[in-house]
Amino acid sequence: TEPLHIVGGGMAGSEAAWQAAQAGIPVVLHEMRPKVETFAHRTGDLAEMVCSNSFRSDDDEQNAVGLLHWEMRAANGLIMSTADRHRLPAGGALAVDRDPFAADVTAQLKAHPLVSVSYEEVTELPETGRWIFATGPLTSPALAEAISAVTGTGALAFFDAIAPIVYAESIDMSVAWRQSRYDKGETEEERTAYINCPMTKPQYEAFIDAMLAADKAEFHEGETAGYFDGCLPIEVMTERGRETLRHGPMKPVGLTNPHDPENKPYAVVQLRRDNKLGTLYNIVGFQTKMKYGAQTEVFRMIPGLQEARFARLGGIHRNTFLNSPTLLDGQMRLKARPNIRFAGQVTGVEGYVESAAMGLLAGRMAAAEILGRELPPVPQTTAMGALVTHISGGAEAKTFQPMNVNFGLFPPLEGVRGGRRGRKDRYKGYTDRAKEDWTGWLEGQAAETA
Ligand code: FAD
Repeated sequence: TEPLHIVGGGMAGSEAAWQAAQAGIPVVLHEMRPKVETFAHRTGDLAEMVCSNSFRSDDDEQNAVGLLHWEMRAANGLIMSTADRHRLPAGGALAVDRDPFAADVTAQLKAHPLVSVSYEEVTELPETGRWIFATGPLTSPALAEAISAVTGTGALAFFDAIAPIVYAESIDMSVAWRQSRYDKGETEEERTAYINCPMTKPQYEAFIDAMLAADKAEFHEGETAGYFDGCLPIEVMTERGRETLRHGPMKPVGLTNPHDPENKPYAVVQLRRDNKLGTLYNIVGFQTKMKYGAQTEVFRMIPGLQEARFARLGGIHRNTFLNSPTLLDGQMRLKARPNIRFAGQVTGVEGYVESAAMGLLAGRMAAAEILGRELPPVPQTTAMGALVTHISGGAEAKTFQPMNVNFGLFPPLEGVRGGRRGRKDRYKGYTDRAKEDWTGWLEGQAAETA
C-alpha cells in the first residue's frame, strides 16, 4: 500500500498518524524536533503540550469542547485515550500530566507496526506522494516560505490578531442597530452586515480609562517580530492617545442610530458578521492583549454588549496559519495541490483538542483516499463537522482568524429540539444531535470497511 507522509508530530500529526495506521496504511511521520527547536517546545517527544496542561471542559452535554472529546473517544482517538490515562484531578476539566502523556503517545506510535518516525525538518511541499502537513503554529520558517510560494503571499499569516467574537443572540438590539457605514453595499444583506453600539462622551471616557487600567498579557521573548504592521492591539492604540480609537475603529461617521436619531453618538463600536450562519459577530478592530477576565469586564461596558457572551476572547500570538476557507476543500486538501492535506492549528483552528480533532479527520480522509474511497462529508451538526466546515468555507475568508470550537458554529436546532427553551436545554439539544450524527457517520465507515 502507498505510504502516507505526515509532517509534524504534534497534536494533529500524532492523531493523524494513528488513525491512518489503524486503517491499515503505512505512515512515515516526519518531526523536526529535537534537531530543530521552536521557542515553545522543550522536548523531543511527540504531542508535547507547549503551555497549559488542560484539554478544557470534559462536559459533553453542555460544552462544545467536551463534545469534541466525546466524538474523538468514539472514533478511538489516540490523543483522548492517552489523555484519559494521564488525567489529573481538575474538576470538570480534563487536565493531563503532560510529560508522561507525551512519552506515552510517542511510545504507542513507535510501537505501531505501520508507523515509522523520521526525525528531520521538511522544507518543501512535494509534488508527488500523499502528505499531511500538521506543522502547527510554529511551522519552521523554511517550510513557511515554501508554503507561501505555493499559496501566494498573504494566504499564510504569522500572527493571529484576534478580535473578540460575540454570540449574535446575546447582543441587545434595543440598544444596537444594523447598518454599514454610509449604507454601503449592493444588497440589503451587505447594507446591514454590521451591528453598531453607540457611546456617549462619558461612556467613551470611562471605556478608555478601563482599558488603560486593564491587566495585559506579555509577549514571549522573540515573539513579536513583525507584528506591529496593521494589527495594533486596541489598548496600544489607546495608549497613543485618548482620541485614537474615536478616529480609528470607533469613528462615529456614516451611521444613524434609529433608537435615537436626533443625537449623534460620540463613538461607535462596530461588530461584523463572522460566519455564514450569522450566529457570530467579531468586534471590528478590537484585537487585544488584555487578559481574559479584563476583556469580559471592559467589553461589557459597551452599550448593547452589557450581557454579551463571548464565543472567544481576543488575543495576539505568534501563530502560523493558512487562509483555509480560500485554500482548502472539504476534504482538507490544498486545492492547488490535492496530494497535500493540512491539519491542526495551521488550518486555523485553535487549541490542543481542536488541532488533534482536525488531525483525526485528515488521517481518516487520507487513509480512505489511499484505499480508493472518499469519506462522505462530516455532518456540520457535529463538533468535528462544525470545525471542518468553518475552515473549509463556512468562515468569512476576509476576516478569517483561528477559531475554538463553540456552539455558534453549529446550525441552529430545528423542530422539537429547536423550540423556545433555555440555553441549557439548547446545548443539550446540540450535543444530543451531534452524538447521533457522529455515531451515524462512524458507523457508515465501519460498514464500508466490513
Ligand atoms: P503542534 O502541536 O505545535 O505540532 C506541530 C509539530 O510540527 C511540532 O512538533 C513541530 O516541531 C513540528 N514541525 C514544525 N515545522 C516542521 C517542519 N518543517 N518539519 C518537520 N516538523 C515540523 N493550545 C492550547 O490548547 N492551550 C494552550 O495553553 C496553548 N498555549 C500555547 C502557547 C504557545 C506559545 C503556542 C505557540 C501555542 C499554544 N497553544 C495552546 C496552541 C497549541 O500549540 C496548539 O493548539 C496545538 O499544539 C497545535 O497542535 P498542532 O499539531 O497543530 O501543532
